[in-house]
Amino acid sequence: MTFSPEQFSTTAVRGGVTPDPATGAVLTPIYQSTTYHQEAVGVHKGFTYSRAANPTVSALEAALGALEGTPPAVCFATGMAAISTLFLAVLKTGDHVVVSDVVYGGTVRLFQQVLTNFGVEASFVDTSNVAAVAKTIRPRTKLVFIETPANPTLKLTDITAVAEVTHRAGVKLAVDNTFLTPIAQRPLELGADITLLSTTKYIEGHNSTVGGSIATRDEALLERLRLVRKTLGCIQSPQESWLTLRGLKTLPLRLRQHSANAQRVAEWLEQHPKVARVHYPGLASFPQFALAQKQQSLSGGMLAFELKGGAEAGIQLMNTVRLCLLAENLGAVETLITHPVSMTHADVPQEIRERTGITDGLVRLSVGLENADDIIADLDSALAGIPTAESREVETCLAK
Ligand code: PLP
Repeated sequence: MTFSPEQFSTTAVRGGVTPDPATGAVLTPIYQSTTYHQEAVGVHKGFTYSRAANPTVSALEAALGALEGTPPAVCFATGMAAISTLFLAVLKTGDHVVVSDVVYGGTVRLFQQVLTNFGVEASFVDTSNVAAVAKTIRPRTKLVFIETPANPTLKLTDITAVAEVTHRAGVKLAVDNTFLTPIAQRPLELGADITLLSTTKYIEGHNSTVGGSIATRDEALLERLRLVRKTLGCIQSPQESWLTLRGLKTLPLRLRQHSANAQRVAEWLEQHPKVARVHYPGLASFPQFALAQKQQSLSGGMLAFELKGGAEAGIQLMNTVRLCLLAENLGAVETLITHPVSMTHADVPQEIRERTGITDGLVRLSVGLENADDIIADLDSALAGIPTAESREVETCLAK
């Protein structure tokens, strides 16, 4: 990998944003105003109504654009608002999209329960298989949408290889980069056309907001996204933008530490006798370890694992941890433990879940910034309460 997260430290703290021109305030104030005075008809300072644009939101957009290496990004009320706006901006009836088969459950729900009603079709394919992507592209394919690392199994897609096949077919490539952010993976430099973030996760990083952003160098697409956002009414709020701007400043530091903690936890879990399988791109046993080394500067803070005792044991673990909080969301300072099948991926059809390894026993861990020893101690004591296959057999015999 040719870059380090620290290369972006200055940009994360200062990029795109100058002290407030009106007051000199170092942090852009929260411009909590719906509307803006116009000096004369058609004469204004670029802001007319906060559904279209707001100065605090614009500051966040400039900061994210600086980090992505693009013009200012377009920010949304949630990550799902960003994803929905992207598809509504580029697709029309009869169009087709290729989507990674392992993606955030909300993206699957958007296609299967909403966009299908408008005659838009999606094929969910294993985008780690470049030949499968090439084969799935049709004349009406408008976009290939990948998530890497993918939520929740951490499966990776080779961005450069997929960009080559999509561009050969004249199709654009969008990457959901939520798990790594531009600090640790730079999709646009690897050939993608569009990057998307749920800023709810690592960008804001403190479980305080929901938000989303899209970055691209394509000015016409940026304009179209702003138009669709204004029409749908899904712009980010000034308050959430301010919190996200503040979180962004420490992103390189946080992501480095999230990754270091996740590496420790993944290595510990891998050697635990009750653990069947750990999915983490920083483990040498990870099937796509070489690809992770090639396209990521960090392995990230997310991991998933399965216990030898299957779903029953996994659920018992999630119900008994104490430091790790059983909750949805990821990428924030608190370690969160999640059961994808009943929480984040509940709306993904069982057939896709079974095909892609989102098993009933899969446990997702967003490793936080607590002391890694404490996270491990919590998992250790929860695992100690889970019966082994042998002890279960003895119990069954005794019960007879
Ligand atoms: N993309 C990924 C990879 C996610 O994990 C999520 C949410 O978990 C989203 C998008 C949607 O973001 P939001 O919850 O901010 O709408």
